[in-house]
Amino acid sequence: MAREVGELRRMLAPARQRSATIALVPTMGALHEGHLSLIRSAAASADEVVVSIFVNPAQFNDPADLLQYPRDVHRDIELASAAGASLIFVPDPDEVYPVGFSTSVHIGGVAALWEGVARGPSHFDGVALVVTKLFGMVGPDVAWFGQKDAQQVAVVRRLVADLNLPVEIRTGPTVREPDGLAMSSRNVRLSSADRDRAAVLHRALDFVKHGIMIRENDSDTAIAAGTDLLRTAGIEAEYLAVVDPDTFEPRPRLDDRPALVIIAARVGPVRLIDNEPVA
Ligand code: AMP
Repeated sequence: MAREVGELRRMLAPARQRSATIALVPTMGALHEGHLSLIRSAAASADEVVVSIFVNPAQFNDPADLLQYPRDVHRDIELASAAGASLIFVPDPDEVYPVGFSTSVHIGGVAALWEGVARGPSHFDGVALVVTKLFGMVGPDVAWFGQKDAQQVAVVRRLVADLNLPVEIRTGPTVREPDGLAMSSRNVRLSSADRDRAAVLHRALDFVKHGIMIRENDSDTAIAAGTDLLRTAGIEAEYLAVVDPDTFEPRPRLDDRPALVIIAARVGPVRLIDNEPVA
């Protein structure tokens, strides 16, 4: 385990010297099967797998969410190592943002929509900043991100392309509970009644997906039906939409290009997001 950048670089130096492939899996800890599947995929195709565990204050727009974010570093280290991590990087906030830190990364375009509206522009700017820093600290050849946070993937791809960062971005599929709920570190904060209701998010995504395919590609009708389904469980979506998977611009009518159904909703006190590709 490394807590400081100097230590991390020293530990990675032998791998770099022998031109080993280095993969990075950035996480905020509270690891679950979604994170572990990314680590396993990374380990299957790289010589060294660095897992970073850092609850990045810069990407939290809600101070209560930051405060309540679950943390269990010892358990995380064990799980990540068992899944194939060769080095765990757990920096303190001061190591990432030392006194005098004055640089920002602002990302527009895809970052300005949906989550960028709901959580404010500072959210994806915070993600872009920490991802840029982690790439600088670790120097990975490949970095792995979950399809669960599809807009984050689109933002990171944009960042890498715009800043010519020499890192290949790869994604892993969303890992779900048996009832379809996407695994998330925030799920532990759901009451048992809310946990049961939360499964309707994925059912609504499926409903919209199949609705579009059946109803002559008309997104609006399918979205209205999905919204009704959510209401039967007492859930009001913050957004439920069909979008382009790269730009996240709405796609009112489908054609042969890929599309994504996206959702955000509060279930009790917990804000959940999910998505499902339309084949
Ligand atoms: P987080 O710790 O929430 O920042 O997530 C770290 C990485 O794990 C991100 O790339 C997420 O997209 C990914 N991830 C989170 N939940 C899942 C999931 N259920 N399935 C697959 N990947 C996930």
